[in-house]
Amino acid sequence: MLEWKGIAASTGYAMGSAYRLPELPAAVKSAVLSYPGSKLDKQEIDKEADRLAEAVRQAAQDIAAWKREAAAAGREAQARIFATHLSLLQDPEYIGEVTERIKGEGIYAESALRAVTDELVALFGAMENEVLRERCADLEDVAGQLHAKLHGGDTPLQVRLTEPAVIVGVDIPPSLTARLDRRMVLGIALEKGGRTSHSAIIARSLGIPAVVGIRGLLSAIQTGDEVIVDGRQGIVITTPEQSTTESYATRQREEAVAAARLARFKSLPTATADGHAVQLAINIAHPQEAEAAREVGAEGIGLYRTEFLFMDRSTSPSEDEQFQAYRSAVMAIPEGSAIIIRTLDVGGDKAIPYLQRNREELNPFLGYRGIRLCLDREYSPLFKTQLRAILRASACGKLKIMYPMIATLKELRAASALLQEAKLELDEAGLPYDPKLEAGIMIEVPAAAMIADQLAKEADFFSIGTNDLVQYMMAADRMNEAVSHLAEPLQPAILRVIDRVIQCAHKEGKWAGMCGEMAGHPLAIPLLLGLGLDEFSMSASALLPARELIARLDYAECRRLAQQALQLESAEEIQRLAAEACTPNVSLESE
Ligand code: PEP
Ligand code: MG
Repeated sequence: MLEWKGIAASTGYAMGSAYRLPELPAAVKSAVLSYPGSKLDKQEIDKEADRLAEAVRQAAQDIAAWKREAAAAGREAQARIFATHLSLLQDPEYIGEVTERIKGEGIYAESALRAVTDELVALFGAMENEVLRERCADLEDVAGQLHAKLHGGDTPLQVRLTEPAVIVGVDIPPSLTARLDRRMVLGIALEKGGRTSHSAIIARSLGIPAVVGIRGLLSAIQTGDEVIVDGRQGIVITTPEQSTTESYATRQREEAVAAARLARFKSLPTATADGHAVQLAINIAHPQEAEAAREVGAEGIGLYRTEFLFMDRSTSPSEDEQFQAYRSAVMAIPEGSAIIIRTLDVGGDKAIPYLQRNREELNPFLGYRGIRLCLDREYSPLFKTQLRAILRASACGKLKIMYPMIATLKELRAASALLQEAKLELDEAGLPYDPKLEAGIMIEVPAAAMIADQLAKEADFFSIGTNDLVQYMMAADRMNEAVSHLAEPLQPAILRVIDRVIQCAHKEGKWAGMCGEMAGHPLAIPLLLGLGLDEFSMSASALLPARELIARLDYAECRRLAQQALQLESAEEIQRLAAEACTPNVSLESE
């Protein structure tokens, strides 16, 4: 038995025998070797160009059909991947270039296809932008399909499993992942990829447990070997011992029971047993994750952390690149819902070296962070670029903007002034945006909580960021285990500050939400409801359990509970009180 650690890409457990994928690039490459790049005569060149055109036509026909199937089944992420593949087939810089190579160099279609694909993959693979890097998988995928069509057959990767299996491989081309039969594919374990690689996105949307980025996995696994995929912890176990298999079988059964119980809540609105309605939203860090809002039946996206778009690169993304990302997120949300895009919150533990040059900070969480950096004269052009991109995306769907780390009214006013400037610039350029775009703020700095009455007059909404608010209120670093007993959201001081913030918002007729982790904590939910919180934004996996819990609660009872909790003297007392309200099955660990 061997245990392999990778990246948890799609939650759940899978057990079964492995099916090892044939490796596409090797298959294509060996075929190319049998078509040496010898010079062809004019007639042969024309024949090769025709073969390529016919292969492109057939592949486009297949992909268009898959796209229609995916769209009809409401699998929009998959439909978009197929649309990308169709556009590659029409791309003059790809297929056009392959044709040019055949003609210019007098080589076989396979050789030209491989050469151009390799060059583009090398080009995209070297890019800092993760989204563009991931285009490599799409290119390889399309190349594989064209290669197969050139030979009049199916792609070697059209896996036809006759029995359910766990797919293992280096990587899976996105189009194949999108066509996987959920009933036959128990799980996925891959050597390559990250949480945002296409295969991970699709695995999540299909609900297939997956672990990716497992180095060296293929050295220890063959088709037919027993394997366990633990998509919760990001672990793969090869040839497991009997006791391990039994323990996972128990977990699988428990998970199935819980999921079946929760599934019916996907299509229900969120309301307490006595009919008090609130909004349940999800938090995302990448535009691709917006799909999850539909999957879990969320009433919106309460926090899109845009700083991830600025990470792992050496320069900030352009206005257009940001616009594309924000637009794709806003277009993926469920109808009738909204997405809250938070402006750049660099700093603290989210370092972006090219934006924080020469700044050694003793206390990064108390330093040059979030709106502070964005309002600095050096960075305000970068901030304005982001505001323009967000404004432009607001023309494509319901979107709200939110500023992080606001501590003073002056900061809010300065951000609003820049937003106004950005609007005027777009007016001049004739670019559309939503003129009624709401602009809200995070309440995560105690100073903001203390002046919430003033801020509520000028902000359109509040979203309470308890991850930071708790650490700043309690003076307890959110990363430091030694003070974790203080960095606890159910402290009396925290409940009181939340109560104040919600009341200040309501007094001005504004709504108050929460996007810190506390919002998805089962023990906190009855209290937050009772304090009058209007919106709860949490990780997608926490949403259905939260909706189910809320449906069991009584609003009048929660209000009474919250008032009682506000009078208690310790976190332990508050936890005990909340646990009684949440029965059954809720413990402090069940977050
Ligand atoms: C928070 O502070 O609660 C929050 C949601 O923001 P982040 O975790 O990104 O700091
Ligand atoms: Mg924060």
